[in-house]
Formats: sequence, structure tokens, C-alpha cells
Amino acid sequence: MFFHGTSKVNDKGHLEIGGVDTVKLAEQYGTPLYVYDVSLIRERARGFKKAFDDSGVKAQVAYASKAFSTIAMVQLAEDEGLSLDVVSGGELYTAIAAEFPAERIHFHGNNKSKEELEMALQHEIGCIVVDNFYELELIQSICETINKTMKVLLRVTPGVEAHTHDYITTGQEDSKFGFNLQNGQAEKALLQALEFNRIELLGLHCHIGSQIFETTGFIVAAQKIFDKLNEWKNTFAFESKVLNLGGGFGIRYTNDDHPLQAAQYVSEIIAEVQKQVEKYEMQMPEIWIEPGRSLVGDAGTTLYKIGSRKEIPNIRKYVAIDGGMSDNIRPALYQAKYEAVIANKVLAETEETVSIAGKCCESGDMLIWDIPLPKSNSGDLLAVFCTGAYGYAMANNYNRIPRPPVVFIENGEAKLVVRRETYEDLIQMDLSIKAKINN
Ligand SMILES: *Cc1c(COP(=O)(O)O)cnc(C)c1O
Repeated sequence: MFFHGTSKVNDKGHLEIGGVDTVKLAEQYGTPLYVYDVSLIRERARGFKKAFDDSGVKAQVAYASKAFSTIAMVQLAEDEGLSLDVVSGGELYTAIAAEFPAERIHFHGNNKSKEELEMALQHEIGCIVVDNFYELELIQSICETINKTMKVLLRVTPGVEAHTHDYITTGQEDSKFGFNLQNGQAEKALLQALEFNRIELLGLHCHIGSQIFETTGFIVAAQKIFDKLNEWKNTFAFESKVLNLGGGFGIRYTNDDHPLQAAQYVSEIIAEVQKQVEKYEMQMPEIWIEPGRSLVGDAGTTLYKIGSRKEIPNIRKYVAIDGGMSDNIRPALYQAKYEAVIANKVLAETEETVSIAGKCCESGDMLIWDIPLPKSNSGDLLAVFCTGAYGYAMANNYNRIPRPPVVFIENGEAKLVVRRETYEDLIQMDLSIKAKINN
């Protein structure tokens, strides 16, 4: 059985999460419904934190909130002592609204606007991860105007790209993000940042990919960065106080995925950094990492109600659910794979192979192709696992489908943390062109 965290089958044969029957959850909150196993999020966060604590290396574990940004989640990240990455004014606004400590907020993005940067400065966030020369100048100039300084990291592209099971080194890095480490751009940015009196350069950042299952990519990226840092130490007497190696730690969406434990990613990264530091006789930098998916992904489950069915003899059985690409666009966007069970009869015998269709008007709106399941009927409950990252975060109103609510479960208690969108919510921003009707 494909379970994560506190998920199990109860004596009624129903899927239970955090001690709460999912059939009850569906009755109480309706479907589709995002359900989060809070204790699993805590366990994941503590896994990363403990690995650094055990090593004695100074570190920050920053939750990449783009994976799932809501007030409750930001509060949970604070509760676990994490730092927080934001990539937009909206995510920053959410963090501030959740009263997350500003000094632990890091701001990312390849095109931060002047307004967004001003907002970050006004709230005195901990650090801006600078992506390009335009931004560097903008920060300097805003800081001059309001008489402040800002801590920054420079985002570099080390010429390493990690994918699930392999990594590639690319001499010429073709990416919209960051300063190229090899072609002189990063060095130019370094000199610019050192010269700008309003900018306090803490160090370097890189992010090499996502859903990564091995440590080699991180290690090669660190090696390339240290080779450059050694040049910069010798030439400019610059030493990086912080080295941020990004996120991308993989999770188990299906049985084909074999992620490492947080402790293994972290200990191998630390070992490599220590090796490089010794080799080049440098100060040990603080190590920052930015897990997103690996903190919240497998803690999330989406509950759907099964509706219609279409059987094409000898070809395929389609089973349709009451959500789809509006609440989980990843299958359509990335051919992402998921596991699922019939939550109200988890242990029933597997009888047929079906494909799970969403309800949006797109042939590509398929959640799962060819999954073996027990025979299901209209009204049965489908639970899709591992939807906690980039599910709600990427939810949309295509076909004017209201976005589902989010429920946090912990110790047998359910708490609504995002309410269901209503039809009124959907038209709230619409303005009429007929004078008579409102507005
Ligand atoms: C998206 C992103 C992350 C998080 O990636 P995950 O795959 O969710 O761990 C971390 N850092 C940066 C800069 C990112 O853009």
C-alpha cells in the first residue's frame, strides 16, 4: 500500500489521515479537498534541521513557500524554526500577514519589480537573492532613496543541471536565472555588489533543479562555486559568508521514485563544503538550503468524488472526478505521475485498470493514466497522494471552477485553513459593462 506519514486504513476500510477518517472529511468539507498531514510536514522540516544541528554547521533551512503558500503554512514554517523563501510580492505579503519574522525571509525571482523590492526593504527582510544587473542597480538606488542597506546573495548558474536521476554539466548555461559563473558575468556582479555601498554581499546562491534523487548535482555545483570563490579570494580578497545551495530534493510520488533521506542530502553537502573549505583554506560559510516540495509534497492528499464513467471497449475505461487540472495542473504540465486509492474502500480487491479524468474541457485534463483500482461507482471517494506541493499553489479557475479548500490534520483534529472559493468569489473582480448592474 502506498502511504505516507500518518495515513492508514481504519477498521471501516477507509483511508485515515492524522487519525481522521477521510470519508468524514469529505462529508464535512465537500470535495475536491486538499488534506495536509501536519505531523509529516513537521517531521520533514525536523529532518533537515536536525541534520544540520547534528553537524554543528551554521545553517538556515528556508521553506520555498512557492510550493504551498498560505498563512497557515507560513505559520507552521515559523513554528518549526524554518526560514522562508518568497518569489513575489504576493508571497511576501502572505508571509508578512502571517507575521513571519522578516529577518528570516529571503526574496527570489528573475524580475522583481521596483514595488516588490521597495516592499521587501520596507519590511526589512533578511536577504534578497539578486538575479541580474538591473536588480542590483535597482536595490542600490532604492536603498539610497530611503537611506537603508540590504543584505544580498548573488544567484549564480554554475553550469550544472540536475534532473531526477542524473545531472548534466553545461559549459554554456542557457537559463533565465542568475549570473553565469563561467563567462565572467558573476564576477562582474561581484565587483558591482562590492562597489555599491548600500549592498551588503553575504555570498552566493544556486538552485540546480527539482525532484532530485541524488547528491552528485549538489556536490558538483559546490565544487564549481568553490573553484570560483578561490579565484575571488586570491584576486579580490572576497570570502562568501553564506553558501545557499537551493532546493530540489526529491519525493516519492510513485513507487518508481526513490528519494534520499534529508540527513543524507545534508550530510553529503556538508562534507563536500568542508572538503572545499579545507582545500582552499577558507572560512566555513553558513550553508543555506531551500526545500519546497520535500517539506510539503507527500504530506498533501487530494480527495475527489467520482462521477461519470466512460468505457471504450478494448481501449480504455475513463473514470471522472470532480476536479482536475484546475486543482492539480502538474500531470498536464509535466506529465507528473501520482498514486491513488478509493478512500472509502481502500482494501477492496483491485479489479480494473482505469484512467482518471478531470472535469475541465481539455482532453489533456487527465490526472492519472492506467491505474489499477477496485471497481468504483459514482459517489465513491478517490484519494490522490502526494499533492501537497505545487497543487494548491498552482490551482486556477479554468472553466470557472472554484478552488478547493485546504484542511490541516493533526492528532485527530481537522482545521480548515483555506475556505472553499464560492461562485461569488469567482465574479468578485468582474465589472459590468451595463450601467444598471453593480459598479
Ligand atoms: C523552486 C525553488 C526551490 C524549491 O524547489 P523544490 O523542488 O520545491 O524543493 C528552491 N529554491 C529556488 C530558488 C527555487 O526556485
